Amino acid sequence: MHRTRTLSDLDPADLRGRRVLVRVDYNVPLDAEGRITDPIRIQATLPTLRLLVEAGARVILVSHLGRPDGQPDPKASLAPVASWLQEAMGWRVPLLSESPGSSGLRSELEALEDGQVALLENIRFLPGETRNDPELARELGSLADLFVGEAFGAAHRAHASTVGAAEVIRRNGGSAVAGRLMEKELRFLRDTLRAPARPFVSIMGGAKISGKIELIEAILPSVDRLLVGGAMANTFFRALGLDTGASLVEEDRIDLAADLLERGGEKILLPVDAVVATAIAPDAVTRVVARDEVGGEDRIGDIGPATRDLFGQEIAAAGTVVWNGPMGVSEFTPFASGTFEIARALAKATGRGTVSVVGGGDSAAAAEAAGVADQMTHISTGGGASLDLLAGKSLPGVEVLETVETSEGPGTPGQGGDA
Ligand code: ADP
Ligand code: MG
Repeated sequence: MHRTRTLSDLDPADLRGRRVLVRVDYNVPLDAEGRITDPIRIQATLPTLRLLVEAGARVILVSHLGRPDGQPDPKASLAPVASWLQEAMGWRVPLLSESPGSSGLRSELEALEDGQVALLENIRFLPGETRNDPELARELGSLADLFVGEAFGAAHRAHASTVGAAEVIRRNGGSAVAGRLMEKELRFLRDTLRAPARPFVSIMGGAKISGKIELIEAILPSVDRLLVGGAMANTFFRALGLDTGASLVEEDRIDLAADLLERGGEKILLPVDAVVATAIAPDAVTRVVARDEVGGEDRIGDIGPATRDLFGQEIAAAGTVVWNGPMGVSEFTPFASGTFEIARALAKATGRGTVSVVGGGDSAAAAEAAGVADQMTHISTGGGASLDLLAGKSLPGVEVLETVETSEGPGTPGQGGDA
């Protein structure tokens, strides 16, 4: 067996004075005034930054923000991130706007002291980033002799700063390893699920089957139960021949849903009741109906109370739970109970030893809104990357990192870690 080499595998003594290129994911939400509304993506990298700073490394941070399309856009500047790091950590973090190949940038990096952190301006200001331009990769790669892959949320993309620069550094005799956040994401989304504590339960929801089909197909053989909620369940209802009224259904996926039901057999648990309304709105007047009593005008907005109980029992008995996608339109209070109650049931189970892994931005937001986010074993910071990894796909930004041989199995199965 082998696993990805991480920052923790390196001797801190080897980091002193070393120039380290750290690809982070600081694609943070900004308000109209350019203030960071949620710094979770920055906070998630602090264990890596502290480790490098304390070891005396010279840290060069690289990130993207938004989609500036290969040209400078002041609204997508990383300046708010540099300020955040400065205020929260008390570090002086220069924002370096000169291009990676320029002599100006080189001399600024020459001035970097041991234990100091600098931040390159938004790498997507450069057209070469998203097409993994070899010249940009070479320029970035020549800035350091150690690459730290910490941008889990961007690891499913082969860009100059996620893959190209790491290749260059390795080719030049340097090293490429996973940072602490990347290590944690891999441990819970990949390694833990290779040997999950059983029963292994997957909860899926959200708007569409189509966006998660690869994940469902990949996870179905290894789970003991697949609990389906959200609008996704409506398409399964139609496959059963049930009337879903005016609910959101993917007409072109009904056959697929039928096929999955046949393959999954008793593993797949669908809702038995629903919260419906004639309009999905924040002030909707709702009713609870059995799943075979949905009226022609009704729109299904949430799982009903009997389903919450049914799913709750499965969660309580589970050894491992992977949750991806809300059980209803959890943005609107009348349809939020199903999702919130599932989140609370999962938090409670986690307190009794269940390993809980949450992937997907809306599910993470729902866990947060339910006030139980900090009680989960792991909440992934990556949307598309976590779906790909859960579906068993390899991520370019992980493949480019070094591996080490291990005598035992992959990672640490089950509980543990710094969650
Ligand atoms: P995640 O980000 O956790 O992966 P998704 O993006 O797949 O989740 O799904 C979240 C979206 O699904 C939300 O916008 C939510 O309103 C929508 N959704 C869930 N249930 C329903 C439903 N019954 N009808 C319409 N939309 C739904
Ligand atoms: Mg989403």
